[in-house]
Amino acid sequence: MADKRDYYEVLGVDKNADDATLKKAFRQQAKKYHPDVNPGDTEAEKKFKEIQEAYAILSDPDKRRQYDQFGHAAFEGGGAGGGGFDFSGMDMGDIFGDLFGDFFGGGRRSADNGPRKGANLRASVRITFEESISGCEKELEIVLKDDCKTCHATGAKPGTSPETCSRCGGKGKIMYSQQSLFGMVQNVQTCPDCRGTGKIVKEKCPDCRGTGYIASKKRIKVTVPAGIDNGQSIRIRDKGEPGTNGGPRGDLLVEVHVSRHPIFQRQDMNIYSTAPMSYAQAALGGEVRISTVDGDVLYEVKPGTQTDTRIRLKGKGVPSLRNKAVRGDHYVTLVVQVPTGLNEEAREALRKFDAVTENSLDVEKEKDSKPKKKSFKDKIKETFEEL
Ligand SMILES: [Zn+2]
Ligand SMILES: [Zn+2]
Repeated sequence: MADKRDYYEVLGVDKNADDATLKKAFRQQAKKYHPDVNPGDTEAEKKFKEIQEAYAILSDPDKRRQYDQFGHAAFEGGGAGGGGFDFSGMDMGDIFGDLFGDFFGGGRRSADNGPRKGANLRASVRITFEESISGCEKELEIVLKDDCKTCHATGAKPGTSPETCSRCGGKGKIMYSQQSLFGMVQNVQTCPDCRGTGKIVKEKCPDCRGTGYIASKKRIKVTVPAGIDNGQSIRIRDKGEPGTNGGPRGDLLVEVHVSRHPIFQRQDMNIYSTAPMSYAQAALGGEVRISTVDGDVLYEVKPGTQTDTRIRLKGKGVPSLRNKAVRGDHYVTLVVQVPTGLNEEAREALRKFDAVTENSLDVEKEKDSKPKKKSFKDKIKETFEEL
């Protein structure tokens, strides 16, 4: 960014240039370097961006004042992406829409009666967590438009035919003049009478009421790939709205909702869950049964395993959408279960166990009466003698 050119130099104007001069310079430069005039020319594209940026700053009185005072430093730091100028606050599209409307015939807005692809349709499907891991097939019912056979999609009553639109002369678009930032410019708009088709139906087809389409419910099979995540969409080609003037159909986009699982949670390609182990298992070691998406597995817990120990089951995670054989991992947090509802025998056993290990149940007594420490130990002895 050190060799950033001066904005006035970029536009080729002097520092005292007024608004009209700036505008004129910008128009000239922008037309020369616009990407549409220089397709594939990266140098021109760079220049064009430079011009855009210079004009955006200098045409704004506040920003121009800051620039005059501080130079490029006024807009560096804190900006998004290292010194880049943030255009988010301005609608460059509008400026260029006005500017180039006459120049490029408005083709960019596709306001003409050529073949156009139909709109995409959206639908959604709900699947279980297990189905998202294994992949599945679902059937969807959607309302799909098809060409009306009675009128061959013209919308005109059989025996009649659509007439050329008089407003646009069949072009599907109309030109109008508009006062803009850059003076009077010619704009192009889709013809409101024929809505871009260039044709007007006088007598409507009775079957489709002049629309040219018949809507009907269709069952569509959706193949949901293994590994799909909640919120991802599947594109089914050519199942959208019909195209106009011979254009291809749009697509059907099916958003997948994955139901929450009571045990498993997914993050990227990994699965997370917790599994219970008993105090005895944790202390002595042993086999713990763990649920995975592939079914239960037995995991050998080492003696002295602490609660919240996390283990990794390699390759038991989510399969990759691209390659089913590539899978993430399953992380399991082992949690020691504290027993509840113990019967007297178990309680007694636990008291004895405590007494021979940490003796934690009698801490308070020990603290309060130090001299009694000995008699307390004797008490333990008694307990054992009872056995
Ligand atoms: Zn019809
Ligand atoms: Zn028209």
